[in-house]
Amino acid sequence: MKALRKLRAAAGLDLVEIETPDYGPHDVLIRVKRSAICGTDVHIYNWDDWAARTLPVPLTIGHEFVGTVAAVGAEVEGLTPGQRVSAEGHITCGRCRNCRTGRAHICAATIGLGVQRPGCFAEYVVLPARNVFPVPESIPDRIAAFLDPLGNAVHTALSFELAGEDVLITGAGPIGVMAAAIARHVGARRVVVTDVNDARLELARRVGADRAINVTREEPASAFPDLGIHEGFDVVLEMSGKPRAIAQALDLVRPGARLALLGIASAPFELPWNTIVFKGLWLKGIYGREVFETWYKMTALLESGLDLTPVITHELPYTAYEEGFAAMRSGTSGKVILNWEES
Ligand SMILES: [Zn+2]
Ligand SMILES: [Zn+2]
Repeated sequence: MKALRKLRAAAGLDLVEIETPDYGPHDVLIRVKRSAICGTDVHIYNWDDWAARTLPVPLTIGHEFVGTVAAVGAEVEGLTPGQRVSAEGHITCGRCRNCRTGRAHICAATIGLGVQRPGCFAEYVVLPARNVFPVPESIPDRIAAFLDPLGNAVHTALSFELAGEDVLITGAGPIGVMAAAIARHVGARRVVVTDVNDARLELARRVGADRAINVTREEPASAFPDLGIHEGFDVVLEMSGKPRAIAQALDLVRPGARLALLGIASAPFELPWNTIVFKGLWLKGIYGREVFETWYKMTALLESGLDLTPVITHELPYTAYEEGFAAMRSGTSGKVILNWEES
C-alpha cells in the first residue's frame, strides 16, 4: 500500500510503498478514504524539538481520518466490513484509574496514532476495535475526515454552559474556528474571536462569529459597547497557547468567568496569578476528547445542522501532500483534506 512516512530524523516526509499492516484478534483493518492534516503533523513534518523527542522513525504519520472497515480480528464483535468509521486516535491503557472511571482522555499511558504507532496517512490503518467509532451516514467524508480535531473543539466548547453567554475564543486556527461555529450553534449570546492572522479571522467570520478581532490593530474591549457586553466575557475558550492572548483574556473576563484551556504553550510563562484568585476564575485544562461522550456529542451537533464546510480550505489527492503541507505551514489555511481514493 501507499503510505506517507517519516523515514529519517529530519524535515520532510516520503510517500512510499509498504506492506499492508497485519492486525491482531482485537484489531480492525480500515481502508482510509479521507484524512486531514493536523498542526501536530506539521510539527512532525518540520521535525521540531517536540517531534525529535517523541517520534520513533521510520513511522507512518497521521491521526485524522474516515474510512471503511476492510477486515476485523477474530475476537471483534459489532463491526463489519464495509462499515464507515473513524476512530479515537488516543490508544489508552484500559487499566488505570482514569481509564476505568470514564476519564480515559487523561490516561497517563496514552499512545498516539501517527505519533507513537503507525498512523492513517496511508491506504490502510489498524486500530484496536474499542477505538473505532461508526460514522452516521448523514456526515459526509470531507467532514468525517476531521472528527478528531472537531472533538477537541467540542470538548473545549461544551466544558462550560454557553447558551446565553458572551464567549471569547482566543486563537482562530481550525479548532478555534470550529469552536466559534459550535458556540453559535448551541446558543451563545456573543461570540468574539481574536487572532493576529487576518485569513484565519475571516474563517471565524464565515462560521458566524459576531466579531473577529486582529489584536495587533484593535483592542477587544473597544467592541464591548457595540456588542452590549457590560462586565466582560462569561466564558473563554483558549486555543492559542500564547501568553499575550491568555493575559488579555484574564483582563477581559468578568469575575466568576470560566476558561477552558486547549492551546499548548511553547515554553513556561508568567501568569497574573492574583487576577485568577481575586476574580474567582475557573480554569480547566482540556486534552483530547472524552471517550466516547465527545464523539456522540459531535456527531449529534453535525446531525442537528452544525455547518463546518467553511473550515475546509483544501481538498487534494494524497499524492499532492507537499501542497497540503505547504498550505498548512503558510499559517493561513483551514483544514486540509487528503483523498486516499484517488492519486
Ligand atoms: Zn489532530
Ligand atoms: Zn489508562
